[in-house]
Amino acid sequence: MWWRISVVLLLSVAVAGSCLAQGRPPRGAVVLFDGKDLSKWVSRDGRSAARWEITPDGAMQVKAGTGDIMTRDEFGSFHLHIEFATPHMPEARGQGRGNSGVYLHGLYEIQVLDSYGLASVGSGDCAAIYGIKTPDKNAAKPPGEWQTYDIIFIAPKFDNTGKVIANPRVTVRWNGVLVHDNVEIPRVTAGGIGDRMRPTGPILLQDHGNPVKYRNIWIRPLKE
Ligand code: MG
Repeated sequence: MWWRISVVLLLSVAVAGSCLAQGRPPRGAVVLFDGKDLSKWVSRDGRSAARWEITPDGAMQVKAGTGDIMTRDEFGSFHLHIEFATPHMPEARGQGRGNSGVYLHGLYEIQVLDSYGLASVGSGDCAAIYGIKTPDKNAAKPPGEWQTYDIIFIAPKFDNTGKVIANPRVTVRWNGVLVHDNVEIPRVTAGGIGDRMRPTGPILLQDHGNPVKYRNIWIRPLKE
């Protein structure tokens, strides 16, 4: 009998592992986008409907000029899984090449950009904490290919007067590669929804004018 039990255990571990490997939401996760609609999202004014496009392959795509979108709900500390694909823009350079971004709490941008093949990357390139820290490695895939971010975000802490007593921290796996390991974020980055840290906030996705796609987005709130 023991071998049957071992086989069942091995199978369940394998199934759990492959869920994570394929980015399927684990138990306790909130699905923010399942390929069908933008019902969990609004424009960055917090009121009007999100106007990005749903593509036939089950992604949401930046519709240039319609503006950033953000989740209706706010989150404190969390694990966010998000997949993205940058467009093929061979003529474009630098910040004009497949630019978007994932803003944690609507305030701290993890950059999305086509950085494929760059020998050295800076704090404006893909997976950078924008303007604050370069990713430890360049794990970029070519434009058009799906890439993943798994982001563990620990919210800042405040005393009872509202003063920040611990900055937020972030860990990022980019296509499975650890590129930020529990990094302190000392300030908000440009282009977010405010200039002050807050205990909770939305996930905001940036319209930087390029048709970047996103899919399979889920978030798992973390208790501390
Ligand atoms: Mg950006």
